[in-house]
Amino acid sequence: MTAVAGVDLGGTAVNYTLVDEQGKFLVEDLCEYPSLAKQGPEICLRQIADGLKVAADRAGVVLEDVVAVGLDTPGPASSAGLLSARGSTNFVHAKWAGFDIREGLAHKLGKPVSYLNDANAAALWGHYAIFGGNSKETSVSIIIGTGNGGGIILDGNVVKGKNGFGAELGHVLIPYQSIAGTEGINPRCNCGRTGDLESLCSLTAIERNLLPYFLPRYPGHELAKLDSHQAAKMVRGLADKGDALCKEIFRVQAHALGLFFDEMVNTFDPDALIVGGGALEASEEFQKWFMSEIRAGMPNQREEQAGIPIYVIPNGDTAGARGAAIEALNLAKQSGLM
Ligand SMILES: [Zn+2]
Repeated sequence: MTAVAGVDLGGTAVNYTLVDEQGKFLVEDLCEYPSLAKQGPEICLRQIADGLKVAADRAGVVLEDVVAVGLDTPGPASSAGLLSARGSTNFVHAKWAGFDIREGLAHKLGKPVSYLNDANAAALWGHYAIFGGNSKETSVSIIIGTGNGGGIILDGNVVKGKNGFGAELGHVLIPYQSIAGTEGINPRCNCGRTGDLESLCSLTAIERNLLPYFLPRYPGHELAKLDSHQAAKMVRGLADKGDALCKEIFRVQAHALGLFFDEMVNTFDPDALIVGGGALEASEEFQKWFMSEIRAGMPNQREEQAGIPIYVIPNGDTAGARGAAIEALNLAKQSGLM
């Protein structure tokens, strides 16, 4: 039985999955191996190879029958997997600067390797979960975490962009001044912009912009006693329990997302809008409310556009590895390996 593997390389863990020719996932849940990214390319790539053997064993696949591997990592990196020469938080070791991680892994494994950044991989999984393989549909995905990850699948293909910055959707500016109840807010983003999606709809947005704006309006609130980072992490849980301040913060985030999705609807006329990430790891009731607030935050749509569905990405913690595996499956089929 031939298969392909998906390898999601993060700062602390490598997550694996395997898929057979029919697109069936052979690893149900999380299959993790420690990441040694901080120790540089040589040690990290050996570690990935060791973990792949463990994952293949677990899936009941002989390593020789893994015909291609899909790798995804945090950026910044080119669309072909060349890590930024300026380094990044996850690849601090000096030898990573300008390192071709896709080529390096292909050499280490002796197998063809495809590459996606982690957000694009998660978006590809979300798209596949809805539309299946060989899809010709278009979707726009937002992953809400510390910042925003984004992914656009256009007519079935991942939009990577010339420099690997395709679908950096968190830094797209939105007309935030139209969000009710935020008069005078000044949402700054790490990237230097004011009023992009990430400055209003991320954990960092809660800490830097939304809590400082709303806390003074709720005197005596319990979160005022905590440091801003700790407080920000508690907002989702409290919102889920119905806390008025925290729900207001999530309403603003949902409305920001609504404005952003409206821009995407008018740009792509997509088949689906998709939301994922830690922000939605809450009760089903809260998820439903949040989705309805996204809709409420969108300007009026044309009748044809109003029906575009909004989905939640399933299997959040394995989304990257799954998307990477689907990209490898495409590579294997295009190269005649399957
Ligand atoms: Zn930004």
